[in-house]
Amino acid sequence: MSKRILVTGGAGFIGSHLCHRLVLDGHHVLCVDNFFTGKRENIADLEAHSRFELIEHDITTHFSAEVEQIYHLACPASPIHYQYNPVKTIKTNVIGTLNMLGLAKKTNACLLQASTSEVYGDPLEHPQKETYWGNVNPVGIRSCYDEGKRCAESLCVDYHRQHNVPIRIVRIFNTYGPNMHPNDGRVVSNFIVQALKNEPITIYGDGSQTRSFQYVDDLVEGMIRMMNNTDNFIGPVNIGNPEEFSMTQLAQTILSLIPESTSTIVSKPLPEDDPKRRKPDIGLAKEYFGWEPRVPLREGLEKTVSYFRHVVMD
Ligand code: NAD
Ligand code: UDP
Repeated sequence: MSKRILVTGGAGFIGSHLCHRLVLDGHHVLCVDNFFTGKRENIADLEAHSRFELIEHDITTHFSAEVEQIYHLACPASPIHYQYNPVKTIKTNVIGTLNMLGLAKKTNACLLQASTSEVYGDPLEHPQKETYWGNVNPVGIRSCYDEGKRCAESLCVDYHRQHNVPIRIVRIFNTYGPNMHPNDGRVVSNFIVQALKNEPITIYGDGSQTRSFQYVDDLVEGMIRMMNNTDNFIGPVNIGNPEEFSMTQLAQTILSLIPESTSTIVSKPLPEDDPKRRKPDIGLAKEYFGWEPRVPLREGLEKTVSYFRHVVMD
């Protein structure tokens, strides 16, 4: 059945894919974004659609609309962007999430919080299960994001316990795909853009740190299934691809997909508080809504490389 759905951060990388999918599924989508990191181009083809509405708005200030579901994604996600104005990042996570929970309470909408694997910090448990409480530095350069997202999760469960607001919490692991910002400093976009421009591939540290990368379509499917799960399972639930790769392996895979590249690999200092390993346990997502990722890394990277070929050439 067609629903009225609000997507905050809908002009960003993940939000734009979600908006497209929800419109395609027959829903009315209200996209709210302040365009800090999001781009109009990401949703340009939707703007004329009768079931799509775009509102330029900053969620740290009051917002009201009649909606049935809220996918709450607004928050810069790459370290360069969230560290640009850390106080604003915390405001977006705390005040912005409070505003959205207030809206959910008023309209009795279900709010899905886009949380993150960063709540596990530099994890001492591997792979990470949702029961793990994390190893986060509360005063480090990543804490505006990590602690902001942890506080947002607390707010969600407290609105649920105290006010019966329907919520869902998904902990998203590293995600990649078309519409990623070419200069946001994340590893997949960095390596692809560097390889396409024949610039050195910058591996931070010795390249042995690992991440588990999921293609954006898999994530969108997982978020929609979690939102609509009929067990009223609120999570938190990990959504990620458990295949784990080192940054050296990632660089080599990307170079093999761009055989004409003359890029070489160079080493740069490892950023402060950079987690050493990350891999989700996805047992809960499988159990509650039968989800697991379908797109292998190589296949997803091929699609992403082809997107960036256009971006880099234009
Ligand atoms: P993104 O930066 O591309 O998108 C974030 C969007 O939120 C942008 O369109 C931005 O303009 C908007 N925004 C930021 N602050 C806002 C504010 N105050 N008011 C209104 N809009 C605001 O990032 P993304 O990769 O698409 O991430 C989306 C969500 O998913 C974020 O909440 C992020 O924390 C979460 N997440 C992403 C990843 C990942 O690998 N990409 C991993 C874990 C969690
Ligand atoms: N990284 C890297 N080279 C880059 C950008 C990132 O080696 O040009 C490393 C980074 O230090 C981290 C991993 O890649 O260990 C993933 O970084 P990203 O910022 O994409 O995600 P996050 O650290 O938030 O998981």
